[in-house]
Amino acid sequence: MEELKSNTTQAKGEYTCLYCGTHLDLDKLQTLPPCPNCGGGKFKKEE
Ligand SMILES: [Zn+2]
Repeated sequence: MEELKSNTTQAKGEYTCLYCGTHLDLDKLQTLPPCPNCGGGKFKKEE
């Protein structure tokens, strides 16, 4: 599994926080923010 860090630019898609499971949707190519729920900085991309 590829871990994606916040504050890196990621493609449009759905991401899941590795710490708390919060889903985050990016609707365009943009910087992945820290998790809005727990502040965590690692995500995985949903396929
Ligand atoms: Zn989180």
